[in-house]
Amino acid sequence: MNLDLLTVDAARSAVQERKTSATALAESFYAKIESDDPKIGAFLTLSKERAMAKAAQMDALAAKGENLPPLGGVPVGIKDVMVTKGVRTTAGSKILGNYVPPYDCTAVAWLEAAGAVVLGKLNCDEFAMGSSNENSAWKLVHNPRDLTRVPGGSSGGSAAAVASDMAVAALGSDTGGSIRQPASFCGVIGMVPTYGRVSRYGLIAFASSLDHIGPLTKTVKDAAIVLRTIAGRDPMDSTSADVPVPDYVAELEKPVRGLRIGVAKEYLGEGLDKEVRSAIEAAIQKLAKQGCEIVDVSLPHTRYAIPTYYIVATAEASSNLARFDGVRYGYRAKDARTLSEMYRRSRDQGFGAEVKRRIMLGTYALSAGYYDAYYLKAQRVRTLLTRDFEEAFNKVDAIAAPVSPTAAFKLGEKVDDPLAMYLADIYTVTADLAGIPGISVPCGETKNKLPIGLQILGRHFDESTILRVAQASEKAVTSGKGECP
Ligand code: GLN
Repeated sequence: MNLDLLTVDAARSAVQERKTSATALAESFYAKIESDDPKIGAFLTLSKERAMAKAAQMDALAAKGENLPPLGGVPVGIKDVMVTKGVRTTAGSKILGNYVPPYDCTAVAWLEAAGAVVLGKLNCDEFAMGSSNENSAWKLVHNPRDLTRVPGGSSGGSAAAVASDMAVAALGSDTGGSIRQPASFCGVIGMVPTYGRVSRYGLIAFASSLDHIGPLTKTVKDAAIVLRTIAGRDPMDSTSADVPVPDYVAELEKPVRGLRIGVAKEYLGEGLDKEVRSAIEAAIQKLAKQGCEIVDVSLPHTRYAIPTYYIVATAEASSNLARFDGVRYGYRAKDARTLSEMYRRSRDQGFGAEVKRRIMLGTYALSAGYYDAYYLKAQRVRTLLTRDFEEAFNKVDAIAAPVSPTAAFKLGEKVDDPLAMYLADIYTVTADLAGIPGISVPCGETKNKLPIGLQILGRHFDESTILRVAQASEKAVTSGKGECP
C-alpha cells in the first residue's frame, strides 16, 4: 500500500474493506521507518510487540465483518513525553534513559481504544523544552523537507514522522508552541486544544498550567478525528474539563461564510519575515474570498508574552523537575558518597544544558524576595493577555496569525543563542498562556520550498470553528496545488 499522504480514513477503510490488513500496514510502516528514519531521526523507541498485537486485534474484527473503531488499524506515533506502559519513555532526557512506565497516558490509551496502532515513541526536546529539537539528549531530528534544517520543536519527531509518512498521525505536546511550530516547519497540521480539553494524565509535566496534548496530522479532517478521540473529561486529571465534546468531524461540514476573522497588527509587525508575511496575508485574503469577514483586532499586551511565558514556564518547570533526583526514576550517578551528593550528581549528569538553565531561571523567579517581582507579576500579565483575547473574541470568531516569524532555520543556527530561540516563540506562547485553542495549517512555501504555517486561534472550547477555518484554508491552498498563495 502506498503510504504517501495516507490519511486516517483511507488507512482505516483499507483495513475495514480488507484491501490490506492492519498487520501488513504496520509492517510497511516499520519497513519505511527502517529505511528512512536513519536520515530523519524521528523515532526513539519502537513498540513493535504492542503495535502488532493491536493490529492483529483489528484484523480479527475486520475478518468478522465488524465495524472498526474510528482509528481501527491506523499507525500512529507518540511524543516521548507521554508515558506508555512497558515501553521506554525518556522525555528526550538522559535522566529518564531507562524509564519504563507502569501505566499509560490517557490520551494514548484512548487512541488505542479507538483502534490506533502505536508504532513507537517520537523524539523531542528534553522535557519538551525547545523550539528546534536540538535539546534532545539522544539525537537530532532533520526536517524532511530539507535535511539541513530543524524540524521545529519541541514535538519535532512527531512533525517529522507525519511529514515523512512514517506515521499517519502523531500526538505532540504544546506548552508554548511545541505542536504548532514544528507542524508549521514540516508542512503538516498541528493543533493545540483548549486547556483542559484533553487529559494530561501521563504527560510528563513541564509547566502544568500550560501543558496540552494535541494531534499532528496530514489533513485538518484527521486532526478532527484524533481530537474527537482524545478529548473529554478524565477523572485522573482534575484539570480536564467536563465540557461536552462536539463531533468535530461533522462540524467541519458547516460553511465558513459569514465567520469574522480577526487580524492583529501585533502579529504582523516587526521581526516577521517578508515571505512569511506575504503568505499569511494571501491566506487571509483567500478566507475573505470564501466569505469570511476580515476584521482588525488588537492584542496590545503581546509584547509582554515572551517574558511572561519564560517566567511562568520556568517556575513551574523548576518545581515539576524536582522529582528527578536519582531515587525514584531512571538515571542515578554511581560515584556519590552522600545522599545529597547523589542527588546533585544525578541531576548534574542527567539533565542537559537547556533544562538546567530553566531550572535555575525558575528557581530564581520563585525565590524569596523575587517571587512578587517575577512570578506574581507574570501571573498578572498573563491575565491581561487573556483579557486581550476575550476582548478580541467579542468582535470576531477566530484570529488568523503567523505561527513563527520565519520558516525552518538551519540546524545549529540558534543553538548558542537561547534568547533568539525564545524570541521566536512570540506568536505561539500567547495561546498557551490564555488557554485558548490554536491550529497550524500549511498555507504556502518560501522560495526555498520551506513550508509556512497559518495559525488560527479560537475561543475557549471552540475547537470546531478553528478546525473549520483551517479546513477552508487547506482547501484553498490545495486547489492552488500547494503553491505559494
Ligand atoms: N519553544 C517553547 C519552549 O522552549 C515551547 C515549548 C513547548 O511548547 N513545549 O519552552
